[in-house]
This record gives sequence, C-alpha cells and structure tokens, in this order.
Amino acid sequence: MINYCYIYGDSDEKNLYLDVSDKIKVDYCPTCKMVLNRKEAIMQAVKIVKIRKKKFFFTSLDGVSIASRRFFEIYHQYNMKGIEFIPLERSEGYYVCKFVNIMKFDVEQSKSIRIEYQGKVSYGVLDNGKCAICQRSFGHHYPFPYRMIVEDEGKLEQNTFYRSDIEFEEKNYQSPLLWATDGIIQTFTKEKCRIFYKNVEGYFGEGDCGK
Ligand SMILES: [Zn+2]
Repeated sequence: MINYCYIYGDSDEKNLYLDVSDKIKVDYCPTCKMVLNRKEAIMQAVKIVKIRKKKFFFTSLDGVSIASRRFFEIYHQYNMKGIEFIPLERSEGYYVCKFVNIMKFDVEQSKSIRIEYQGKVSYGVLDNGKCAICQRSFGHHYPFPYRMIVEDEGKLEQNTFYRSDIEFEEKNYQSPLLWATDGIIQTFTKEKCRIFYKNVEGYFGEGDCGK
C-alpha cells in the first residue's frame, strides 16, 4: 500500500463566503440555517474576496481550502495530482482548492477508538445527524484514526491529494479531511513549506510519511 498522511494547513480566523454573504446570493435552509448553495456561494465569493493574510495553505472558518501561488507552483513543478485550482479574482496568487478525488472515511475502524468530547465518552466518529428538511449533514467529530476504507487505500496513487466523503466540524463550518500520498510531504518538507501532517493511524509524531 502507498503511504498517506492526513494533512492540514494553517487555520484562518475568517470565513470565505459567509463574510461576504451580504454581497452574494446565499440560500439558507429555513429550518437548520445551513447554506444550501455552498458551491455557488464559493464561486461567487472568488470574484470579490480579498485575501489579506500571507499564508502558504489555509482553511477558512467556513471550510474552504486556499492555496498560495507558492503551493500552486510546487504542485505543478512536482507533478502532483488531485486538486483543481480556482483563482481568486481579486487576490492574485491565491486559489480555492477543489479536491477532486473522494475516498470513504473508515467509520467502522474508528469505532475502536475511545473519544471524549465535551465531557462525554464515546467510541468512533460522532455523527451529529442531519436536517430533516434539507437532509444536509450537521457534521461529524473526532475523525480518528484518519483512515479511509481499505478498499480505497488499494486505489491510492503516489503524489496525489484526496478528500474524505464525510465532513467534520459543524453546520456551515464543515470541511472534509485531506490526505496526501507519498511524495507530497517529502516535497513540502524539502521546499520548507508550512503544512502539517499526521500519520493516518493517529500516532502523532511517529511513522509520519514525511520522514
Ligand atoms: Zn436544513
């Protein structure tokens, strides 16, 4: 099997499309208040949002991954795969990342992992349920041990990014897990880029594929 890691960038204290929701068309579910046209809202936001922070790779509070020009250049220079870059029209050199390869998060395997969330102990992924009206997921918590199902692991290719099918965190702040296979972490390490990774088993700091 090809090694892969769970990766994440800096977090941003700002929303991407929710912060400009007065300037774009955002449809909300009347019952749960979640955004119904998220993809369209993001596409409208890329036309007007200005990115002020200089970061290599980060995720907005409303769950959108954004890459810098340096990330974009390294991606192409090293022939990485799995991301569609959508340029932010008013922030030259920044791109919204669309992760095109979707893998199934291993909910079954995560059930062996004990978690504690807000004082409550349970096992595996915590599913917040979904809205009875719009059917959207309220999100999930505690994605240990970050694995995708074994069947999907068999399909992995080197130097490629993937995203999880389910999303984590809550309501309008959900985002998928991101995974990167062998080659990517080594490249980012070599190029001294600020990106973080964890071994998929959740033994942080041990056996990371960047070493
Ligand atoms: Zn709803």
